[in-house]
Amino acid sequence: MNLTYKEYRLQLKHTFSIARGSSDYRDTIIVQLEHDGIKGSGEAAPLERYGETASTVIEFLNQVRLPRVIDPIKIAAILDEVDVIAPDNYSAKAAMDIALHDWGGKRMGVPLWKMWGLNKNNTPLTSFTIGIDSPDMIEKKIQEADEFPILKVKVGVPGDTEIIKTIRKITDKTLRADANEGWKNKEDALDKILWLEEQNIELIEQPMPSDRLDDIEWIKERVHIPIIADESVKRLNDLPRLRGVFDGINIKLMKCGGIREAMKMINTAREMGLKIMLGCMIESSVGIAAAANLSPLVDYADLDGNILISNDPFEGISQSKGKLLLNDEAGLGVESIIPR
Ligand code: MG
Repeated sequence: MNLTYKEYRLQLKHTFSIARGSSDYRDTIIVQLEHDGIKGSGEAAPLERYGETASTVIEFLNQVRLPRVIDPIKIAAILDEVDVIAPDNYSAKAAMDIALHDWGGKRMGVPLWKMWGLNKNNTPLTSFTIGIDSPDMIEKKIQEADEFPILKVKVGVPGDTEIIKTIRKITDKTLRADANEGWKNKEDALDKILWLEEQNIELIEQPMPSDRLDDIEWIKERVHIPIIADESVKRLNDLPRLRGVFDGINIKLMKCGGIREAMKMINTAREMGLKIMLGCMIESSVGIAAAANLSPLVDYADLDGNILISNDPFEGISQSKGKLLLNDEAGLGVESIIPR
């Protein structure tokens, strides 16, 4: 099996700002596996928040040694070996996991959603993310997001109430708020969330820093909308300590290491009675397709990373009025549209 990978700069349509900072582009690494005349694609979208950059991903991938011959039913054993190359490096591991699943699906001639026994008509609506911006730009972005019935708004920064007021002047659409650990004091966070409830916000993501679980539990006891963990949850073993602290979790393939771990998390979260969101980084249609194939299993989707960029190197995954559309192609259901 032949493994190749290449860094690719995803250009954002608009400067993207959240509580941690701003960016105009994100570097992603597109992975390709080839064996038996079949190509599998994967993607790593590294985030410094989780200790990864494009160069750490490349460094990790340089160490991957794949068997010469691969049996699609033995993908789990290969992923076990990839997992022990080094700790962490979850987006790099996700790239291998996604590429192997894509390859396996294509080898067997079935779409991934079908391989997992899912109904492609049961995909949720994805939200569309509005980054932090000036009132004028927010207004423009809301107009551009006209076809999306659910918006996700970044809060947790000074001036966030103005952003919500601006949006609510224009639309009464379903709104989800993400503070990205932005509030540092539990009383302030509580006041903000109670105010957000009055603005008819559906849920709040990660109101406080990831390790402030006692404070978040204190807030949860006092608010009425679901509190969803994002930065506080990366992998399966983070779940037990979130019991009673959050109402739901945001699973991202780039945080957890790929599809295999995400499935385990979905099963455990269901047993714990947690709501499940599938989220993403700024990523191409490869990473988004991997999550979208899983999305019939979850309550909320925030899979708009490929919609926020202007130079997606793949196509095949789409949405209509926010509804994620899966196709009948084998594997992930995406195809490269740039010369390699
Ligand atoms: Mg988030």
